[in-house]
Amino acid sequence: MNAFDGRTQGWGMDTFEYDVVIVGAGTAGCYAGATISKAGYDVVIVERKDAEEAGHIACGDALKGADTFPETIPKADIAGSFTNTAVDHGRFEIPQEGTVMEIPVPGELAVIDRWEFGRLLIDGATQAGVDFHYDTVVQDVTQDAAGRVTGVTAKRKGKSRTYEAPLTLDGAGALSILQDKIDFDGSTFDTNVRYSQFSSAYREVIEVPEPVEWSDALVIKPTKRSAGYLWYFPRTPTEINVGLGFQMNEEPMALVSDLREDISQRPELQGATVTDKLGAALPTRRPYDSATAPGYMAIGDAAAHVNPISGGGISGAAYAGQYAGEQAIAALEDENVSEEILWRYNQRVMDHYGGRYAALDVYNIFSTAYGLDELLGLLSALPAEQLSEALYSGSSSVSLGTKLRVLYQAFGHWGTLRELYGTKQLADRLLAHYERYPSTPDGFDAWQAERNSIMDDIYGATGAEAKY
Ligand SMILES: Cc1cc2nc3c(=O)[nH]c(=O)nc-3n(C[C@H](O)[C@H](O)[C@H](O)COP(=O)(O)OP(=O)(O)OC[C@H]3O[C@@H](n4cnc5c(N)ncnc54)[C@H](O)[C@@H]3O)c2cc1C
Repeated sequence: MNAFDGRTQGWGMDTFEYDVVIVGAGTAGCYAGATISKAGYDVVIVERKDAEEAGHIACGDALKGADTFPETIPKADIAGSFTNTAVDHGRFEIPQEGTVMEIPVPGELAVIDRWEFGRLLIDGATQAGVDFHYDTVVQDVTQDAAGRVTGVTAKRKGKSRTYEAPLTLDGAGALSILQDKIDFDGSTFDTNVRYSQFSSAYREVIEVPEPVEWSDALVIKPTKRSAGYLWYFPRTPTEINVGLGFQMNEEPMALVSDLREDISQRPELQGATVTDKLGAALPTRRPYDSATAPGYMAIGDAAAHVNPISGGGISGAAYAGQYAGEQAIAALEDENVSEEILWRYNQRVMDHYGGRYAALDVYNIFSTAYGLDELLGLLSALPAEQLSEALYSGSSSVSLGTKLRVLYQAFGHWGTLRELYGTKQLADRLLAHYERYPSTPDGFDAWQAERNSIMDDIYGATGAEAKY
């Protein structure tokens, strides 16, 4: 049913009926909408920004793995936003150690014009048949007596409106308002969510008069405290995305002035002009244990589908959108939107990247227990190939020879090194447990209890403060 067919008047409030209402025209919302719409169902994406501003998202603009993105919105349709496909490694600058590490990035990587990318995703979803309602701020949800989510209420230009649908998908990004409003009692949805599990980040796009030498690298360096990093990602040799972020359990950083200070110290960036500025929160935690409730699925940042070490969340959002979209189709065909039907969505996320991200978060937890100098000293002594493997797979099989080399080079960091290997073993144990994520909600409590006991061991071994 389209917007006009479905509109009813009552008490001055417009009501729209759809098969699926999606909140947020970001990556997750667009992939989900396109998937469901292509199967012939009526989908609306409700977006608070106007049509011009939609797709303008705070981001470092590094797109990892575009070659393997879901085909719902074909790569050919988004490739027009890829402004730099020459990047093949990370350049880790560690001024405290006087070291620069060159670490290869596996798979395809592009730096993109993120706003253009956002617009192209919206075009892709529009071509698939999705309706977009812009300028519409979702403020609340509706639930029936049994607790099933039945839609949302919103405001457009001062006027209230309601969206009714068997299924609501929450693609509203980090710290989604919908999750403050839904009564999750009786569902499996993960409510163990706190600000301290998120990062606050800020970025600018700058233009420099002369091409930078490192236009084939993602430049990364630690902030003055351990839980943050600065980045310089070249959209082109003269247009750079620069930004920084910190974990919100740390003392807040002066993001803008810290960034300005760093830029001013780089000779190659002298004379830069700022063309865009944006800031936002992003989840740097494990994915939500369950992102479903009756009639509802959270996708992308709204369910923490982000690599908690790199902060990369575009590909997780794209896949979450596709998996939730496919599960929505199954539920609509069955006329059953219970968690039992939606559950497979959780399972596919955990199988694909959820377990890996949870394992990577163990290294975040490890890092909060050590001083910056200790960590950087250790980092600069580790071999680049192994770090790359660990960073992207959540684990790494360190051969004996490499181990010895690491031990030799890390002389002076013996204690931290031993703890790191202990942590790696625990991270591997956690990864193996995520491979046993239950196939139905029935096994969820037992799975969660065992996972919590592994986390207790991790906190015990690292001495870190409990994060969850
Ligand atoms: C500074 C920064 C740098 C980053 N760098 C990278 C990077 O280099 N590479 C990478 O892969 N990832 C990066 N990320 C993460 C990445 O941007 C996100 O993971 C990704 O955008 C998530 O997509 P999403 O669709 O889930 O949410 P979003 O892209 O956040 O989209 C959410 C949408 O919902 C809308 N919305 C929110 N609330 C409402 C409401 N109440 N009513 C209506 N609409 C609403 C918003 O306006 C927005 O359009 C970065 C994040 C930040 C903050």
